[in-house]
Amino acid sequence: MSVNLQPIATIHTPYTEKFAVPRQPGLAAAATGDIVFSDDIDVEACCRGIEGFSHLWLVFLFHQTAAQGWQPLVRPPRLGGNQKVGVFASRSTFRPNPIGMSVVRNLGLATVNQQTVLRVGGMDLVDGTPLLDIKPYVPYADSVPDAIGGYAQSSPPMLAVSYSPEAEQQLSSHRQRYPDLPALLGDVLGQDPRPAYRQGQQDERVYGVSLYDLNIRFCVTEQGIQVIAISHGE
Ligand code: SAM
Repeated sequence: MSVNLQPIATIHTPYTEKFAVPRQPGLAAAATGDIVFSDDIDVEACCRGIEGFSHLWLVFLFHQTAAQGWQPLVRPPRLGGNQKVGVFASRSTFRPNPIGMSVVRNLGLATVNQQTVLRVGGMDLVDGTPLLDIKPYVPYADSVPDAIGGYAQSSPPMLAVSYSPEAEQQLSSHRQRYPDLPALLGDVLGQDPRPAYRQGQQDERVYGVSLYDLNIRFCVTEQGIQVIAISHGE
């Protein structure tokens, strides 16, 4: 049997590149995104009743990594990136079918550029990700309070995020356009987005991350993450 799936929408998020996208939803509560539906979806009809649900499941395509194939064994960042587990014991993007699933906050329908979009919060998806489906999160069925989380039992530790005087100034100049930027940077950088083998270590490098149309440069000090500069992208 083969299946032919048609995306129903595209999600727009602050994450203009894969680097620094949280590794699971809910880790950056300040991130909000808009789901823009395909022309053949009757949004009002398909979303009727959705306002009753605080959270939604998004089922989506890992479109940026789909062409890279998959392996039966993967190295989850949570295990430091050097221990292997089976792909079905991981949430790796490299899977036999490149399909992801994330629970997000439902922020309701909104009108943007005369189009009805569905606004969501806390997603771990890169900007432009195609969505295959949206389903309500049903607490009595979907939440398992005594579940055991294998090597990912609890959320990863967070680092403190501070700003150089220059970055502090730049942050306030971008605040009007992006009021959630400080919270978003705290969440996104606090998770230490560096490759798994560097985590827990100080290093000399300056890293760059894109959020919205901004380039953020940061380094890792003994005290945590320090933002060095925030500038407009190319
Ligand atoms: N919550 C989902 C799941 O469990 O299926 C995704 C988990 S996956 C580990 C999250 C990572 O996928 C993000 O940190 C980002 O690097 C990557 N990612 C997000 N959107 C993507 C896309 N459209 N294509 C490829 N990779 C993507």
